[in-house]
Amino acid sequence: MHLSRFPRVKLAHLPTPLEPMTRLSKELGVEIWIKRDDCTGLSTGGNKTRKLEFLMAEAEAQGADMVMTQGATQSNHARQTAAAAAKLGMECHILLEDRTGYNNANYNGNGNVLLDHLHGASTEKFPGGHNMVEEMEKAAEAKRAEGKNVYVIPGGGSNATGALGYVNCAFELLAQANDMGLRIDRVVHATGSSGTQAGLVTGLCAMNSGIPLLGIGTRAPQPKQEQMVYDLALKTAEKLGCAGVVKREHVMANTDYVGEGYGLPTESGVEAIAMFAELDGILLDPVYSAKGAAGLIDLARKGFFDKDERIVFLHTGGAVGLFGYDFAFENQRRWAAE
Ligand SMILES: *Cc1c(COP(=O)(O)O)cnc(C)c1O
Repeated sequence: MHLSRFPRVKLAHLPTPLEPMTRLSKELGVEIWIKRDDCTGLSTGGNKTRKLEFLMAEAEAQGADMVMTQGATQSNHARQTAAAAAKLGMECHILLEDRTGYNNANYNGNGNVLLDHLHGASTEKFPGGHNMVEEMEKAAEAKRAEGKNVYVIPGGGSNATGALGYVNCAFELLAQANDMGLRIDRVVHATGSSGTQAGLVTGLCAMNSGIPLLGIGTRAPQPKQEQMVYDLALKTAEKLGCAGVVKREHVMANTDYVGEGYGLPTESGVEAIAMFAELDGILLDPVYSAKGAAGLIDLARKGFFDKDERIVFLHTGGAVGLFGYDFAFENQRRWAAE
C-alpha cells in the first residue's frame, strides 16, 4: 500500500497537531487527546482539505478548469472546495441545498457562505429535499455545453479518491503516536457523508493498528450510516490494493446525538461547544464536531469507556459555521452550574 502512487496536490498544513485536552480529561475522568484537523490551514481548515488534496489532483490531471460540488447552505466542504479551486486557478460552482429552513441573514450569508463568495465561487440555491446528485449532473452538463471542462466532486468529497485523504490521516496519526510513545485505545469523530470514517477505518485496518474507531452520526440513522461507511471503505481498500482488510464489524457508528436532524443544533451539542471552548480553548461547530463531542462527553459520563482508556477525538473543523448559527447561543449559559 503506497499512497504516493496517487496524484495529490499539497493544500493542507500537515501533520496536524495531536494534543492532550487536559481540563476536559479531568472533568470527564478519561484521558482525551485531540487531533487538530481543524488546523489543516486552508481557509480556516477542516477535514475536507485532506480529501481535496486527492480530488483536486484528479481534477488537474483531467485538465478541469471548473470544479462543481454541492452541500448544505453552511457547508464546510463547499467553503474548502472554493478555496482549493481559487488556489489552483480553477472556477468553482456550488449548489447549496436548504436543509434547515432557516431564513435569518447570518445563516444564509455569513460563516461559510461569506467565505464561498470571498473565494470567488458562484453559488446556486435549492430548497430542501431535492435530488442534489441529479441537480449537479444537470448543472455540470449545462456548464459543459458552455465549453467548460467540469470536474464534479460529490457532496462532502466522499468517494474513494477523497477518502484517501483520511487513509493518509490514519498513517499520520499512527506515526505521531509511535514517535511520542503514545498508546491510543480509541478514535472518536463526527461522521456525515462518510469519507472521513471510511478512509480512517481503511488506514487503521490496513496497518493492523487494532484501534477501534467510533463515528458519531450527524444525519442518518445507524444502519444507513454504517452501511454508507462500510460500502465506501470497501471501495477505498480496493483502490489502495488492500481489498478485504476492512470487516463489517470494524465499522461502528453511534447516531444517538443527531437530534432533530442534519444541521439542526442540539442542546447537548451546544453544551459540548461551551465545554470545549471554556475548558481547553477549542472551537467546535454546531453541525458536526459539536455532535461528535456531545457523543464523546455523554459516553464518557455513562462509563462507556474504560477508566484507563486513552481516546483521541479527531476534530474535523467547521468553527466558521458558528457565525452562521449565532442564534443557537442566544440563551447560552455557562455549562457548569453556577
Ligand atoms: C464534513 C464534515 C464532517 C463529516 O465528515 P464526512 O467525511 O462527511 O463524514 C465532520 N465535521 C465537519 C466539521 C465537517 O465539515
